[in-house]
Amino acid sequence: MTEHSVDCELCSGDGGEILHRAEKFRVVLVDDPLYPGFCRVIWNDHVKEMTDLPIADRSTLMAAVCKVESVVRAVMQPEKINLASLGNMTPHVHWHVIPRYLDDAHFPSPVWAQAQRQPLPASHAQRQALLGALRSAISEQF
Ligand SMILES: [Zn+2]
Repeated sequence: MTEHSVDCELCSGDGGEILHRAEKFRVVLVDDPLYPGFCRVIWNDHVKEMTDLPIADRSTLMAAVCKVESVVRAVMQPEKINLASLGNMTPHVHWHVIPRYLDDAHFPSPVWAQAQRQPLPASHAQRQALLGALRSAISEQF
């Protein structure tokens, strides 16, 4: 499948800061002010569901998601990693890899729920400061 569309946000743009670009997928750092270290692994072609991918491609995608999870864990030191694939708004199957902390804006709810608090400025700044290390570690990992 190599369908691409200029009307599609994830065909016409990267969907974030590119950390790694592979033939079939890419890893981006999401520009979310509440969630430094939030990454996405995005399939480059239009594929709606995981089960629409050939098995080899599913494995390729999940291996990439696990690599990103490992790096985000090691560098960002979160309380928990949230892995999610929703994809209700785009034809590109993708996985969110989200570092979560006890004091983040939504914990213990999903990041898409109603915010419960403002993140503490000090811990937020500490996480922002790790992004350089995260960028390097992801490019080393792939
Ligand atoms: Zn697209």
